[in-house]
Amino acid sequence: MEAQRDHLAPLVVSDSPVEKFREFLEIRGEKLTDRRRLLVDHIFNSHKHFDADELVRDLHDAGHGVSRATVYRTLRLLVEAGLLRELRLTNRSAYEHDYGYPAHDHLHCTSCNRVVEFRNDEILRLRDAISAAHGFRPSGHRFLITGVCAACSRAHSPRRRLDLI
Ligand SMILES: [Zn+2]
Ligand SMILES: [Zn+2]
Repeated sequence: MEAQRDHLAPLVVSDSPVEKFREFLEIRGEKLTDRRRLLVDHIFNSHKHFDADELVRDLHDAGHGVSRATVYRTLRLLVEAGLLRELRLTNRSAYEHDYGYPAHDHLHCTSCNRVVEFRNDEILRLRDAISAAHGFRPSGHRFLITGVCAACSRAHSPRRRLDLI
């Protein structure tokens, strides 16, 4: 088990996220502006679970002046286009890559906010079996495990402190 890595490996895709987004916008009669292209490039540069305010801060720190309204609207469009997925964690909403990324589930540490990804065939089998029993055709699911990660457990465990003496 690759339990130590927080993220999965991306899939190989033929069209870049920017190309996908351009197509999506064209169908809607909208243009891929420089601002939007910059946002897509920035977002797809690395895989992480981020919220809108974090993205605004990130862009600002990187020297890009993009308004909050543009960021929020572009994020909504990217979700609609199937490029990003909205993720409801315990105490916040986050976004992550959907396009070019394998389907997966999450563990969320409520102590340090770390988000760990995993894939489990057992969960997929269960999802399909439950769906079949209800005559349901599944298009997706959400499975979130909340709790305390190993690092936080170690840091807060009294037994651990005794071990160190
Ligand atoms: Zn933690
Ligand atoms: Zn994820």
